[in-house]
Amino acid sequence: MKELVLLLPNENATVALGNAVAATGDRGYVIYLYGDLGAGKTTFSRGFLQALGHQGHVKSPTYTLVEPYALLPRPVYHFDLYRLSDPEELEFMGIRDYFHQDAICLVEWPQQGAGFLPDADIELHLSYDSEGRRARFVALSEYGENLLDNLKSL
Ligand code: ADP
Ligand code: MG
Repeated sequence: MKELVLLLPNENATVALGNAVAATGDRGYVIYLYGDLGAGKTTFSRGFLQALGHQGHVKSPTYTLVEPYALLPRPVYHFDLYRLSDPEELEFMGIRDYFHQDAICLVEWPQQGAGFLPDADIELHLSYDSEGRRARFVALSEYGENLLDNLKSL
């Protein structure tokens, strides 16, 4: 499946979606997270990280650009590129070391890193929808399509 749209009536639904996506993956992959400020990108990431065993707070890596989580069986790197002024800075921070075969990368504001980020397996577009949010997934690789298939059958 290439596309999946879901409605998220409240914050818990966004967290639960993060839980569900985390539970479907079984190798490293890349998710780009799109949406205005407050759309729920970090909330989704929190659900994702907690499902993989992270306990406690998930802060937005707005100033550090990336927050590493040494989880098992594979690390998760949570990026927030909102404040990245020049995508070339990603080269200097050693972006390639993060996007290795076995890592999961969640990237908020990927458009800020255009040209210097590896391709995504899935995009998640979050938008405001009355009191809640709308989530639209787009699969960009075969692996991303498998993930959406698994997600749909949950
Ligand atoms: P972003 O990282 O996209 O800027 P955050 O996840 O930091 O957004 O903040 C989203 C805000 O919206 C939080 O206050 C959260 O409680 C709220 N929120 C998240 N998901 C939903 C939802 N489905 N419905 C209503 N509010 C939500
Ligand atoms: Mg955020």
